[in-house]
Amino acid sequence: MRPKALGFWYSPESPGLPHPSALIDPDWSESERSMIFDCLEGGQLARRFMGVSSCRICGIPNGSAELTDGEFIWPAGLGHYMLEHSVRRRGRLPPALLRHALVRLADLEEASTDRSWWLATRTMACPWTPTAANSGRSLSARLYADAEPFRRRRGGGVRTPGSTGKTQS
Ligand SMILES: [Zn+2]
Repeated sequence: MRPKALGFWYSPESPGLPHPSALIDPDWSESERSMIFDCLEGGQLARRFMGVSSCRICGIPNGSAELTDGEFIWPAGLGHYMLEHSVRRRGRLPPALLRHALVRLADLEEASTDRSWWLATRTMACPWTPTAANSGRSLSARLYADAEPFRRRRGGGVRTPGSTGKTQS
């Protein structure tokens, strides 16, 4: 199946695409924009690019990847246009995308979870499990002590928690 592309905007290299500033809808509710934003941000990484896209409206760096949910594919910065600039393609994009997002959210909310695997792992040794040697220490001190062999192997200087960043050898 070929995912449907959405949210790809005009650029000098792609002059045939729409410009988002022509699709601003000031009446689009923030709660709906926020929900769509969460849905878009939760997409799976499909492609990553070397260059960063700039927002066509405010100019901030706005993503360097494309995300997908299997049915749609969109630039990683699309959520920014919707949440911050209220960009939507009136009469076309929101119904399809919104319906899709609502169905996904409803499915996820209703899905029960299987915790058996996670509960079975609770007996595995955890590096910051309190032991006689580290009980009473803060978590950062325990993590620091746990990392000691790696610091030794690297042969670098030693920096103690709370030090000023100066190293001692
Ligand atoms: Zn922007």
